[in-house]
Amino acid sequence: MEFKDGFYKTLLDNLYDGVYFVDVERRITYWNRGAERLTGYRSHEVMGRFCRENILEHVDEKGNNLCETSLCPVAKTLVDGLAREEEAYLHHREGYRLPVAIRVAPIKTPHGRVMGAVEVFSDNTPRVISRQAVEELQKIALLDPLTEVGNRRYAEMHLKFRLAEKLRYGWSFGVLFIDIDRFKEVNDRYGHETGDKVLRMTARSLSNSLRSFDVVGRWGGEEFLAIIVNVDQGKLARVGEKLRTMVERSSLGLNGDQVKVTISIGGTVALPGDDSSSITHRADELMYESKRQGRNRVTVG
Ligand code: GH3
Ligand code: MG
Ligand code: MG
Repeated sequence: MEFKDGFYKTLLDNLYDGVYFVDVERRITYWNRGAERLTGYRSHEVMGRFCRENILEHVDEKGNNLCETSLCPVAKTLVDGLAREEEAYLHHREGYRLPVAIRVAPIKTPHGRVMGAVEVFSDNTPRVISRQAVEELQKIALLDPLTEVGNRRYAEMHLKFRLAEKLRYGWSFGVLFIDIDRFKEVNDRYGHETGDKVLRMTARSLSNSLRSFDVVGRWGGEEFLAIIVNVDQGKLARVGEKLRTMVERSSLGLNGDQVKVTISIGGTVALPGDDSSSITHRADELMYESKRQGRNRVTVG
């Protein structure tokens, strides 16, 4: 598995996907350019380190840390020698959670003994906004320049679409009002610039956790609105819980410190007679209920 030059290294280095090798102890022995691009970590920063260290910190949809447990796909392959495919969320160097599709295969000696594993991972973002789409949205002023998710006007526009569809076809939808907890303290403690980075991280984790037909927009300062289609109260609560978990499991590295935030969410499904302001008002009230109950929680009503 040790190679410095040659055909295979060039080939692997230039793959679009992320590729890394580990030895039997899960120590990283190779890290290609695709992995650098997808995770933000350079090869020299991760070589020789253990994948279970605080680098990629894979979590599943429920927020379980895969690396520390027997759930780690690489660990499973090292034990049973079988290839596997899974979906997970990894930790990007800038702090946000990135959804990836993972394939793991064993690396065996000529005698069939497992001597390591290779993991190939690719971006599994449901809706990768292309550079061109970003520019288009900027042009028509629907994008929030700081976080690069839609702005309030974008969220309001989608809300109007969904309300019209509900009236016409009876299609259900719900909204989640999201507010970062004690965000003022982040600014006070780390400065406004870091506060901005945390806002960006939170926005990315939120949008990366949604399905392609759901949208999230920045409603104001540290508030976001997500519009979730085809849900009842129970499903809306589950989506809210997923967003809450993914933000809780995001962290921004800062001089050896890990900057983290939590969010409080209020969720409500659209009722007959709702307009944009009645539904967002209701969700906002429920968000305050989450704050009153102690923050970092989801209240759906
Ligand atoms: P709570 O849990 O009750 O929501 O507490 P909080 O501190 O989040 O609430 P509060 O509304 O008092 O503070 C929100 C803070 O968000 C204050 C403001 O300075 C900060 N903020 C708003 N917009 C931005 C921004 O674009 N960048 C940064 N860095 N901070 C922002
Ligand atoms: Mg607020
Ligand atoms: Mg707040």
